[in-house]
Amino acid sequence: MAATAATLRETLSTIVGDAQVLVDEDAVAPYLVDARQRFRGRASAVVRPGSTDEVAAVVRACARAGITVVVQGGNTGLCGGATPDASGRSIVISLARMRRVREVDAANATLTVEGGVTLAAVQAAADAAGLRFPLSLASEGSCTIGGNIATNAGGTAVLRYGNTRAQVLGLEVVLADGRVWNGLRALRKDNTGYDMKQLFIGSEGTLGIVTAAVLALVPPPRERATALAAVPGLAQAVLLLSRLKDALGSRLTGFELMSDVAVGLSRKHHPDLPDPLPGCPWYALIQADSSVAGPALAADVEGALAEAVSVGVAGDATVAASAEQARRLWALRENISEAQRREGPNVKHDIALPASAIPAFVASCGGALAAAFPDARLVVFGHLGDGNLHYNVAAAPGVPAETLMRRAADINRIVYDEVTVRGGTISAEHGIGQLKREALARYRGPLELELMRRVKDALDPQGIFNPGKVLADAVRA
Ligand SMILES: Cc1cc2nc3c(=O)[nH]c(=O)nc-3n(C[C@H](O)[C@H](O)[C@H](O)COP(=O)(O)OP(=O)(O)OC[C@H]3O[C@@H](n4cnc5c(N)ncnc54)[C@H](O)[C@@H]3O)c2cc1C
Repeated sequence: MAATAATLRETLSTIVGDAQVLVDEDAVAPYLVDARQRFRGRASAVVRPGSTDEVAAVVRACARAGITVVVQGGNTGLCGGATPDASGRSIVISLARMRRVREVDAANATLTVEGGVTLAAVQAAADAAGLRFPLSLASEGSCTIGGNIATNAGGTAVLRYGNTRAQVLGLEVVLADGRVWNGLRALRKDNTGYDMKQLFIGSEGTLGIVTAAVLALVPPPRERATALAAVPGLAQAVLLLSRLKDALGSRLTGFELMSDVAVGLSRKHHPDLPDPLPGCPWYALIQADSSVAGPALAADVEGALAEAVSVGVAGDATVAASAEQARRLWALRENISEAQRREGPNVKHDIALPASAIPAFVASCGGALAAAFPDARLVVFGHLGDGNLHYNVAAAPGVPAETLMRRAADINRIVYDEVTVRGGTISAEHGIGQLKREALARYRGPLELELMRRVKDALDPQGIFNPGKVLADAVRA
């Protein structure tokens, strides 16, 4: 085995150059732990190819040697999908050197980029072309477009633009046998057989390596309105969402929900942040954009909110008077995760439900958790516009977090059972990785799991891509 590993290492060095095959413990260490430091693994090497041909040659060499491959982008994933397992038998392929913008076609509003380009760099390339790439995540400075595609990332503008899937027109993918599928088509209509790219989007590195993508761009916003509304209950929050959709149509970009506990934590750790509407159990952070310049957008947002307040759907509302005020309102939302991290570990859930089912879910799940875990407190926030809640269960102040963390499996069971009963999902935007593999097996039916397994076996019959992620490893003869 040692001889095989040494031979493979030599082959990899021949393909990418000695300097791009990392084996030194310190150099390899950052690739072996996930963003939340929840998962740690081992790897025989980290390889950093610089081109699609090099990725393909590395995969071919691994397939020949029976070595498994974990592909990594920015390593910001929240489910341990990019962390190798503990066996040490895998190599990690990092796409950090594949950062080329291959083509900008402003007339077609498309961009062709390599898989290792960061999301922020994609956004900058779109801006430079006078257009916009609408995907937006708090991790955008580090996460890569390959990782966004592999996780079908969501974020704060899904209400208007859809998930990553909706922004991808074409893909280039290195397959499990090292062949390269060139599906880099810049087309908005293409019903020519099965739409193969859809299989790779959201496949979390288990079916192929995304080495390049054609992305759809949109016109840049010329007007923006940001507002905060205080809402007395979740039923009213859902009604407010419907009213704003009605009044603003596709100009409604984001509708983020925050509980008072979530806002309180954000402000506790950033006391300079505003508290414009104190004393309400829920808050909606609203963003609307228009590509048409003029006062209509602000007037429509103000009018819709004033009506909502007049009928009691919102208690009060405030519209940001400047870009700086808007930034500070957004900071309330964007600092929640970081504030929670500083408070200590908590049991996180990235769930989605039909918006109409959310009030009943929160009431009933909150009741079940309070009965079973009186020492817990809920930190609820998320993208209500997409039915996506970050439903986090933390220890109440003064209670050691470990008490609760030890019972994470019981907490998950209550939350996921409640979600499933109401037609929801256990993973809205972060994926499955290794964190939710058992939950996926539990909450998706046997036929759906069999279909997933057949897709995996068809595209990766040797099981070389990302073992132990999404699906349990197949038992192979
Ligand atoms: C502060 C913070 C905020 C976040 N906010 C959001 C949010 O709002 N919405 C959201 O959806 N996510 C969010 N995330 C999660 C994360 O940023 C996304 O999942 C992101 O898409 C991962 O990209 P990455 O390049 O870091 O991928 P990695 O973490 O490197 O990998 C993630 C998965 O994709 C696979 N993969 C990576 N690159 C490729 C490739 N080129 N080809 C095939 N497979 C590949 C990996 O094997 C792994 O399974 C957040 C994370 C952090 C830390």
